Amino acid sequence: MEINLISDTVTRPSEGMLQAMLVAQVGDDVFKEDHAVNQLEETVAALFGMEKALFFPSGTMANQTAIKLHTQPGDQLICDHYAHVYNYEGGGVSFNSGVSCKLIEGDRGRINASQVLASINPPDFYHSPKTRLVCLENTTNKGGGACYDFEEIKKIKEVCLEHDLSLHLDGARLWNALEATNDDPVAYGHIFDTISVCFSKGLGCPVGSMLIGSEKAMESALRIRKVLGGGMRQAGYLAAAASYALEHHRKPLVEDHKKAKEIEHVLQGLEFVSKVESVSTNIVIFSLNEGLDDNQFIANLATHGVRLIQLGKGKIRIVTHRDYTLEHHNHFIRILKSISF
Ligand SMILES: *Cc1c(COP(=O)(O)O)cnc(C)c1O
Repeated sequence: MEINLISDTVTRPSEGMLQAMLVAQVGDDVFKEDHAVNQLEETVAALFGMEKALFFPSGTMANQTAIKLHTQPGDQLICDHYAHVYNYEGGGVSFNSGVSCKLIEGDRGRINASQVLASINPPDFYHSPKTRLVCLENTTNKGGGACYDFEEIKKIKEVCLEHDLSLHLDGARLWNALEATNDDPVAYGHIFDTISVCFSKGLGCPVGSMLIGSEKAMESALRIRKVLGGGMRQAGYLAAAASYALEHHRKPLVEDHKKAKEIEHVLQGLEFVSKVESVSTNIVIFSLNEGLDDNQFIANLATHGVRLIQLGKGKIRIVTHRDYTLEHHNHFIRILKSISF
């Protein structure tokens, strides 16, 4: 049995999703004539109570577009030192936007309002870069699927308003956060200037992300997407998958969360594991005892057909997802309990 826990992006489309893709009403989206894309964009904008949404081939491109539209070259953005936009987008912040990052050591990828306030460069001090944007991530990836407390987001927004900063949310796993916290997506739409979401993570789509914001912001985003080469033609086949996933694959995220929580408990009981980050969604991050080799442990599990990855030195990551079945889960738990390392 092959059990792939390296990411929630390894899923294949479900039967229902494939059917929805087959009957999609498509057109050329570069001419804005793809019915399925237009419909998905309207649905997602309405879901967050925002004016407009734009379909993207990847979450990276959606984030990079947002950063580009909120900044000018030379500006600085504020984010956590674990942020995806800083660590895992190929240096795009500087490549695409000529922007630097002021990094905050937050709590598992989450920053707070007083940290943001302390990181703003004085606007009249012309020697330092101009602070223009704050990027939050929810759930946090490298922070192990941690969710923001919405009250803290509100406080961060106040700081942004006082200091004329835009606020972007990297919501690649916002669906997981919403499922776990029961927060209202419209409340998110009210606070953030732009939000990116992914359909290709927990929702199980093969491809697809979206950027959501004001009419005016999305007009600029359309041009930036073009420049980045993100204009797609009959993208409606992908949009149909996303529409299907929004309707049918959101609720089952709780199953992924439940399995991750169970894995957390089992790991806590293993003597070669030194630390397990508290699980609130579908990501489990843990560390082995001092002196044990992460790669050797990962290779050991691979001999049992289980795939995991390292996420930075001293951290191993497990991500549960739709295609990680109950059968896989029970088998994996048995393996974990039986191996010695
Ligand atoms: C996966 C991910 C993205 C986007 O990744 P793509 O592979 O480009 O779709 C953005 N932010 C976070 C936190 C992610 O986990």
